[in-house]
Amino acid sequence: MRLACNVEVLNRMLPTMNIKNKSKAAHTQLSIGKKPGSEDGNLFLMMCTAKDRNGAKFMIKDNIEQVFARFISEGKATIRVKEPPQDITISKADSLQLKNFLSVLKIGAQGKSLDNVTLSRLAPASSKNVEKPKTRLIINSRKEYPLTTNFPSRLEFLQVSQCRLKKVDSRILKLYQLTELNLSDNVLEILPEEFSNVPNLSSLTLAQNNLKAISPKFCMQSTLQNNLRFLDIGNNQLEILPLQICELNCLVTLKIDNNQLKCLPPTIGRLKCLKFFSATGNQIETLPASMTQLALETIDLYGNPFQQDIQNNLPDRFPDITLMECCARSIRKHRVRYTEEDLHTHLCRYLDSARLCWCGGYCFRCSVNFTTNLSLSRIAHTVSAVDQLGRTEVPMMSFLCSPKCLTRFQKNPYAYWKK
Ligand SMILES: [Zn+2]
Repeated sequence: MRLACNVEVLNRMLPTMNIKNKSKAAHTQLSIGKKPGSEDGNLFLMMCTAKDRNGAKFMIKDNIEQVFARFISEGKATIRVKEPPQDITISKADSLQLKNFLSVLKIGAQGKSLDNVTLSRLAPASSKNVEKPKTRLIINSRKEYPLTTNFPSRLEFLQVSQCRLKKVDSRILKLYQLTELNLSDNVLEILPEEFSNVPNLSSLTLAQNNLKAISPKFCMQSTLQNNLRFLDIGNNQLEILPLQICELNCLVTLKIDNNQLKCLPPTIGRLKCLKFFSATGNQIETLPASMTQLALETIDLYGNPFQQDIQNNLPDRFPDITLMECCARSIRKHRVRYTEEDLHTHLCRYLDSARLCWCGGYCFRCSVNFTTNLSLSRIAHTVSAVDQLGRTEVPMMSFLCSPKCLTRFQKNPYAYWKK
């Protein structure tokens, strides 16, 4: 029974003697086993590091005061040993292996039989097992791509470029420590929908591939929704972005340059953390109204065919609101979760077409639209011109959700209002 992880040891007596604990987390091999050649059958927990390959040993039976395992799913736990009075703090472990390891430790501590478990020989660790694991890897040609060997399991940063990858290698999606993944300059056509085994992924670069679509499922992964801060899908062949991309709650940087996008998702204003946005070289003619809800650092929309002349013909009467419209509005308003299995496809498409009224409310087809000019400096600190003439004003397609909002707009079309 072995576990590769980082360990920090804290002596509980030191603070009482007013001494600061100076230990640092070190890469460690933890084992549970019996001393070689011993007859008494006592179980020990052994802790080997690069500095101490022979390892420190702790008696297990009746000597484990407590195991703190609240963050076990993040690969963290603390073992409180009675004698010596030390806390062994484990981090960066594989959560499944950690779970197994701790359950064996608990059984051993109670003195119960462990006949069914393969225990380790408590021999000094080999240097391979305690040396600092490789956390960064850059592969820039097919020659370097590991076909017969595995990727180092503790990678935090991985770049694979110019390898003509058609799809994402499933081995990459099992690198549970990965925080940055760069797969730019390949020939990827589809994206995997399963990122649950890379729970800490915060940066994903997929620029210069052959992506034709981003699936809604890709954006609905809770691991990505809660962690992804950087997404670069520039230089692909995307014609539309799914509405669900606006559910990637933590996105700070979004780059979608040089695709064939005709519009941006109408609910883009929901990306509350977004600070850096670029969509140069697309086919965008107008921006969605919810852009006004963003507070960006930089925005770059150079090289899009934005409309020049704006003419609005607002109707006098607001269209009648249907039952479907009512339901859809409240599904969006209350963020009711649904999948394609719960609802008919055409209802899903209807829900995908959500628009934001200037009042902040959602509306769908029962709405009135109009175009105004938006000065980009209203939504970003640093603004790049959208054409060679240096323009920084772009047309924005806005929607009105009710007769009340229509009257309000007709009275003063230059006022911006939000809830
Ligand atoms: Zn409204």
